[in-house]
Amino acid sequence: MDETWVRDYTPFRIAGNLYYVGSYDLACYLIVTPAGHILINEGVAASPAMIQAHVEELGYRMQDIKILLTSQVHYDHVGGLAEIKRLTGAKVMIQEADAPVLADGGRTDYYFAAKGPTFTAVQPDRVLHDGDRIKLGDMVVTALHHPGHTKGSCSYVLTVRDEHSSYKVLIANMPSVIVEGRVTEVSSYPAMAADYEYTFASLRKQRFDIWLAAHASQFGLHEKYQEGDAYNPEAFRDEAGYRQEVAGLEKQYRDKK
Ligand SMILES: [Zn+2]
Repeated sequence: MDETWVRDYTPFRIAGNLYYVGSYDLACYLIVTPAGHILINEGVAASPAMIQAHVEELGYRMQDIKILLTSQVHYDHVGGLAEIKRLTGAKVMIQEADAPVLADGGRTDYYFAAKGPTFTAVQPDRVLHDGDRIKLGDMVVTALHHPGHTKGSCSYVLTVRDEHSSYKVLIANMPSVIVEGRVTEVSSYPAMAADYEYTFASLRKQRFDIWLAAHASQFGLHEKYQEGDAYNPEAFRDEAGYRQEVAGLEKQYRDKK
């Protein structure tokens, strides 16, 4: 495992009611509302204690987390899900195509299946589809199905506000390719190439103010922000960086087609 996945990192307010509660590289997002909180991404199996400490350091309570989401069903984003569900009693929501993989601990993952289970299985409470809205109090998070990296990978779109502005936030699942061979020859995922095509087309169309992703390294967190910096949502406004990163991933994909 990459050491930066479990390296501690000071939690901070990104914009409005959106906070970073992940590790140095595994990005976990807390959306705070008076009706309870939403957590996006639960890290690896060892992450829940760190995530809990971060939530409490910000002055919030784990028991107030009502909804658990994830970018995709790989062990670096759902490894801590079973434990956080146990701690919070929150409802687990996941895209339809990732749901069976979550429910069998990764045994049917197109890529990691040979390793057997790679995380503790969790039965989802709600299955999500493209465009579904996840509501909690006056907060609405929209799920965008961006398959390819996994069959049910999702990006999330939400609008947050502070005293000065409102920000449309895109938490993108960046569609990196992990198969060694051709994307057109993955027998456990025959629709892979079509799914990547769809996802790149959708990502190219996205418009937003703030761009985030499932790994800090994917959106350049450490170039944009240093631990202890003052609140500054503008630091995460980086449309050019997003377009460049998506184009780079698309090239990687086309080279494997
Ligand atoms: Zn990952």
